[in-house]
Amino acid sequence: MVKIEEVIIIGGGPAGLAAAIYNARAGLSPLMFAGAPYGGQLMLTSEVENYPGFESILGPDLIEKMRLQAKKFGTKVLDKNIIKVDFTKSPFELYTSEEKYLAKSVNITTGAKAIWLGLESETRLRGKGVSACATCDGFFFKDKVVAVVGGGDSAMEESLTLTKFASKVYLIHRKAEFRASQIMQDRVKKHPKIEILWNTEVEEVLGKTKVEGIKIKSTKQKKNVIPSTTTVIPSLTGNLHSPDPRIREDDDESSNFARLAKREFRVLSVDGLFVAIGHKPDTDIFKGQIELDEKGYILTSAVNAVRINKFLINLISNQTPNPKNQKIGKLDIGNYLGQLDQLGISNFDYGYQYMTSVNGIFASGDCVDHSYRQAGTAVGMGIAAALEVERWLEANSKL
Ligand code: NAP
Repeated sequence: MVKIEEVIIIGGGPAGLAAAIYNARAGLSPLMFAGAPYGGQLMLTSEVENYPGFESILGPDLIEKMRLQAKKFGTKVLDKNIIKVDFTKSPFELYTSEEKYLAKSVNITTGAKAIWLGLESETRLRGKGVSACATCDGFFFKDKVVAVVGGGDSAMEESLTLTKFASKVYLIHRKAEFRASQIMQDRVKKHPKIEILWNTEVEEVLGKTKVEGIKIKSTKQKKNVIPSTTTVIPSLTGNLHSPDPRIREDDDESSNFARLAKREFRVLSVDGLFVAIGHKPDTDIFKGQIELDEKGYILTSAVNAVRINKFLINLISNQTPNPKNQKIGKLDIGNYLGQLDQLGISNFDYGYQYMTSVNGIFASGDCVDHSYRQAGTAVGMGIAAALEVERWLEANSKL
């Protein structure tokens, strides 16, 4: 007969390991599925200098220390992936490719992974100049020229981090405005080492064994003007902004095919490319089992409470008197209640901040948090979820 675990932790990064240490010390003998390969994003990180208690430690070393500590207090760690769950059953059912496991409670700590541009050349040169982590790899670009892609807070952060190493940072964004927070934008815009290339996207990463450049094009060009069979030779190498007599901004795009071709693609000589276009939480196997947000992040009671709060604040601000006619807009209660219902207001138990929409299933770390994504914040969330698991198990001891 399959043993019923008190708590199964899915994920073996900082959130899961911190939760395991707490649950193990509380005598729950947690079973952890740490994943294969185990350890999450910290395993891809070199120096970590902002984790309290360590002035500097390698990401994998930090994970090993946490694993040892979790095992020492009685956590059973399996470096396997959970591939399917059934949270409609009690006890909950979890499956690896070989076996089924049962648990009274679950803490999901599966983390999030970087999103890539999806270029063949980007995949081929990953680790050879293409990266998604400036903190991990910036050190390798001392006095070199690098490019960052993206327009959110991650791209701002990556660019600023890279200025500590690189001699020049191009920040490439497909639009003419960033979506990043104003303070981060301001820092980037006034940094002397950062040059922003607006309305630009990366078409290809160039180089055989390491990054030697990137082919970029304007997003403002008319699409499909050049037949796809046409081979366009990059017209410009080196600094994109060197004056080039062959390219004039006032060219009539349709008048000269050759000139148009030259303007369509350009080559920027860089030694590294940092892709910072967002992260995807590892939550696919939980779709349909617990509530996720639009981007796939797991909704916990605390996160949903913030969503509801934002909705109510919007509602109240929409009801303020119109200064022109001093009339207060009519509140369509039915409509708003319907919208509130869509936010799943009644699907959560707000007595447990880290509980998901299913009673007894908790979540913590980067699979919940799309804002901070730090080892330290993941650890904090993992611990809070672990304490709630303990409290929930006590309250539901008849299980
Ligand atoms: P994000 O806010 O989703 O921004 C992604 C950026 O990448 C957008 O500018 C987007 O362009 C661009 N992008 C997406 N797909 C692309 C593609 N295929 N090609 C080119 N560009 C592409 O992601 P994020 O910056 O990782 O931030 C995620 C969340 O974490 C946000 O809430 C952010 O505030 C938070 N965060 C906070 C901090 C901090 O406070 N220190 C640091 C990092 C992240 P468009 O704008 O055109 O869509």
